[in-house]
Amino acid sequence: MVDARGRLVIPGLVDGHAHLYDPAFTYREDFTTGTAAAAAGGVTTVVEMVLTTPVDSPDRVRVKIDVGRRSSLIDFSLHAGMMNLNNLQNIPAIADLGVRSFKTFTCKPYYADDHTLMSLMRETSMNHSILDAHAEDEAVANENLQRLQAAGRMDPMAHAEWKPNLAEERAVKKLIQLAGGIGARVHISHLSTREGVEAIRKAKRTGVKATAETCPHYLTFTRKDMKKQGPYLKMNPSLKGPKDVDALWRGLRDGAVDIVTSEHAPGTRAEKEPGWKDIWKAWGGVPAIETMLPILLSEGVNKHRITLPTFQRVCCENPARIFGFYPRKGVIREEADADLVIVDLKLRRKVKAADLHQKVDWTPYEGWVLKGWPVLTMRRGEILFQDNEVLAKPGAAEFLPMNL
Ligand SMILES: [Zn+2]
Repeated sequence: MVDARGRLVIPGLVDGHAHLYDPAFTYREDFTTGTAAAAAGGVTTVVEMVLTTPVDSPDRVRVKIDVGRRSSLIDFSLHAGMMNLNNLQNIPAIADLGVRSFKTFTCKPYYADDHTLMSLMRETSMNHSILDAHAEDEAVANENLQRLQAAGRMDPMAHAEWKPNLAEERAVKKLIQLAGGIGARVHISHLSTREGVEAIRKAKRTGVKATAETCPHYLTFTRKDMKKQGPYLKMNPSLKGPKDVDALWRGLRDGAVDIVTSEHAPGTRAEKEPGWKDIWKAWGGVPAIETMLPILLSEGVNKHRITLPTFQRVCCENPARIFGFYPRKGVIREEADADLVIVDLKLRRKVKAADLHQKVDWTPYEGWVLKGWPVLTMRRGEILFQDNEVLAKPGAAEFLPMNL
């Protein structure tokens, strides 16, 4: 028996975008540590996001599924990528394995030009799949980069100036236009600007099949915070301004922004520190999977930026729907898995990296006092996390095919 009196029971969170790096860069994170952090943060399903190591053929997808089955603590699925004209022909076979989200970029280092984007959209669409796009315009980025380099800029703020709001706005609008014309489903990764939110809002009104996510860091930090945290807040897209933060919260409230994902992308201190002198040399990304739920409860629900039902919609139900796990995941009802989180909305605790279960020993939220924490996490009836302790062992996680 579990006593949840005076507390709240919510569905386990479905994190649609997290980098667990396994098996290539396990000094940063692996499936076991990353999903231990997830479980401690009330996340019971994760969609692992490809990064530098390609997951773009049926064999590579199988390898990744094997790693997950062996070492994940929570149920998982995968994004394939990075997609381009050379691996386009693998889409049907990958989709047959149940991996139906394909990642692409509108900018370097995985730049796909318009022709490539359209070819990918046709292919994903024919295979009942999503094209998941990193949306920042290469021309805008490149023009700024040349200017910044000519000026010898290596300070942390130079990274924020590299891809301004215009870069995201242009890329999002292009993706929406192409997806609308082709009738494809496009999902925009980690939205960071008010212009991006507005473009998605308009696209939905006209019936384009576009969805979007934002992440805890874009809801809580602005580029000004880079003055203090420097390279530790380097990420792609970069942080924007207070008006963007407000627009993202509003987007969550009115449905323009469908989901919140962690975009967990930890780098070590050794990979971050060089950025104080030369920001271009620092790793871009932050650990986020364990703090996502307390951040959204504290900064969102308890500060009345979003309601509890909105929180559940954007963190549980919508991601389960978008990636094809609904109604098995993302909701509490009879046919669903017993993926449950007990949260204490009144519990106040200080964030300390030392208390977190991730591999890296830092968090951008160090010292933040958050109100609202998970106290117990259950996956298919098994208690994974209780009283600040991860109890789960690897071996019971299931790979979730995307039912799209
Ligand atoms: Zn990512």
